[in-house]
Amino acid sequence: MSFVYKADPVRGAEWAEFFARKMPDMPFHIWPDVGDARDVRYLAAWQPPANLMTDFPNLEVLFCTGAGIDHLDLSVVPDAIPIVRMVETGIVSGMVEYVTLAVLSIHRDWKTYLEQQRERDWTAHRVRPASSRRVGVLGLGSLGRAVLPRLQSFGFSCAGWSRFPQQMDGVDCYAGADEMGAFLKRTDILICLVPLTDSTRGILDKRLFDALPRGAAVINVGRGGHLVQDDLLQALNDGTLSYAVVDVCEPEPLPRHHPFWTHPKVTLTPHIASMTQPETAVEAVVANIRRLKEGSPMIGLVDSARGY
Ligand code: NDP
Repeated sequence: MSFVYKADPVRGAEWAEFFARKMPDMPFHIWPDVGDARDVRYLAAWQPPANLMTDFPNLEVLFCTGAGIDHLDLSVVPDAIPIVRMVETGIVSGMVEYVTLAVLSIHRDWKTYLEQQRERDWTAHRVRPASSRRVGVLGLGSLGRAVLPRLQSFGFSCAGWSRFPQQMDGVDCYAGADEMGAFLKRTDILICLVPLTDSTRGILDKRLFDALPRGAAVINVGRGGHLVQDDLLQALNDGTLSYAVVDVCEPEPLPRHHPFWTHPKVTLTPHIASMTQPETAVEAVVANIRRLKEGSPMIGLVDSARGY
C-alpha cells in the first residue's frame, strides 16, 4: 500500500517529510517516481494523469491538492473512486486573512490613502463604523463559514447565501435563487466564495451588480470563471460599483494588456488568497485515510453530480 503525490515537487518534498512523521508505515512517492504502481492506493494530485486507472489499477482515493475541483476532468475518474478536496486549516486561515484584509481595506479607504500619500495630500475622510457596513458572502462552505465570524468580530453586519438553507449565529442566511435578490439588496461588500460549477459560472455579472446597492464593492476569491470581466469594468466605470478586489481570473496569468492591471478601482492579486499548506494538508489527508479505514465518511468528499 503506498501514497503518490503529483503536484508542485518543492511542496511535495515538504509533504514527504510530514507524511513520514504522521504515517511512517506508508511509503510516500513523488510523481513521476511512483514505486510499484500496483501498490498505489492513494493519489494526491492537482491534475491526475489522463490514464488514471491504467497508471494506478488499485487506486482507492483521489485527493485533490486544492479546495476547488473545477479544473479536474471528472470523466477520467471512475464513479467508484471517491474524490476528496482539500479541507485543511492552513487554507482556511489563509482565506480568512485575505478576506479580512480586503474587507478592511475597502472599509477604511486604504487605496485612497496610498494614492494620497503619493500626492502628499493630507485629506481625512469620514470613518464609518463597521456596524454601518453590510458584508455578504456567496457560499457558506468551509471557507465562507470561517470568514464570517471574523468579520462579525469587527462589528460588520453579516449575511451569507448558499444553495440549501443554513443557519449561523448572528448571520442572516439566505438560500437559493429565490432569496438571492434580498441578499444582494442588503450587501455593501460582496465576497464570492462559491465553487465554480455550471450553475455558478458567470454569477458575478451585470444583473448581480445591478441588484447590489449603488456603490457596493465586490471581492472575488472564488474562481475567475465566476466573473464576467467586461460587466465588472462597466459597473466600476459607471459607478454601479465603487471597488473590486480580484484574486482569480480567467485566464491566469491575466494578460499584460488587461485593464484590471491599471484600473484605479481594482486591486489585483495573482491567485494567492490562500494556499494549501503542506503540514496541515498532510494532517487532513492522513486523518481521512484513517477515517476511511474505520468506515467513517471522509471530510471534503466531492459529490460529482453536484460538482463540488
Ligand atoms: P464548499 O464546497 O465547502 O462550500 C461551497 C458553498 O457554496 C456551500 O455553502 C454551497 O451551498 C455553496 N454553493 C455551491 N453552489 C451553489 C449554488 N449554485 N448556489 C448557491 N450556493 C452554492 O467550498 P469551500 O468553502 O471549501 O471553497 C469555496 C471555493 O473557494 C472553492 O471551490 C474554490 O473555488 C475557492 N478557493 C479559492 C482560493 C483562492 O486562493 N482564491 C483558495 C481556496 C478555495 P450548500 O452549503 O447549500 O451546499
